[in-house]
Amino acid sequence: MKVFLAEYAGFCMGVQRAIDLAHKTASEEAAPVFVLHEIVHNNSVVSDLAARGVKSVDSVDEVDEGTLIISAHGAAPEVIEKAQTKGLKVVDTTCPLVSKIDRIITRLTRSGHTIFLLGDKDHAEVKGVKAVAPDVTHVFRFLEEIDSLPQVEGPAALVSQTTQNIKFFEEVAEKIKRRYPQAEIYNTICDATEKRQTAAIDLGRQVEIMITVGSRNSANSKRLQEVAATVAPRSYLVDNAQELDPKWFAGVSRVGVTAGASTPDVLIDGVIERIKRIGEGR
Ligand code: SF4
Repeated sequence: MKVFLAEYAGFCMGVQRAIDLAHKTASEEAAPVFVLHEIVHNNSVVSDLAARGVKSVDSVDEVDEGTLIISAHGAAPEVIEKAQTKGLKVVDTTCPLVSKIDRIITRLTRSGHTIFLLGDKDHAEVKGVKAVAPDVTHVFRFLEEIDSLPQVEGPAALVSQTTQNIKFFEEVAEKIKRRYPQAEIYNTICDATEKRQTAAIDLGRQVEIMITVGSRNSANSKRLQEVAATVAPRSYLVDNAQELDPKWFAGVSRVGVTAGASTPDVLIDGVIERIKRIGEGR
């Protein structure tokens, strides 16, 4: 059985930067050090940070002293202001490509735009981005929802969560343009997401099974698995090597592996090694 790794897989610039900053903070700052939610959505990375003494909290209200790390997904501006008002040291690891969407929305709302934001409303990144202009930003996830978005006569714009599916965004943009001909389209899907999705499709066409390594609460990993499933006959999402089921590989000769932008190399290597061992044991 041959195993192929996608041309682009695993850590992106934003994730690597956030983890490096968090590790530096854990080793240099006096305790207590907290992180708001998860630094990135990967179980192994989260456990590693906890082992370095960084405690995860769901709200700034839980923290009265010390340092608060803001995750790579960002946070609402008022959350950061509240932490500063409480006298906490804030270490902001928000990915610059998420901050870029915040800047686009700030600029557009100054000129009276209504914002349509394609994304998962419960995801930390989307909550933070919407909070930039909550009264004029409308979050939606599905094509059908466009029909029930408010009537807008003035300027409008479409932006996207950084980890959405590129093809789907294009379909959404077309429908938004039909309903709101004046809408400006901003493809804010990040380069890392685009490259990983394109590479997964390229590889998926050449194999019988695609394995995506990533945690189930990782938006970009889930999207990657969905994208791979459009071309590979079978596509699975696993958090680590232990989740591989040997039965998936019966009669298979070519396996593709990809990984979300928040997946460490050690987990990707572990998955590849286990697939090879399954192949050798047949
Ligand atoms: S996936 Fe994109 S937006 Fe998210 S951290 Fe990586 S580079 Fe930044």
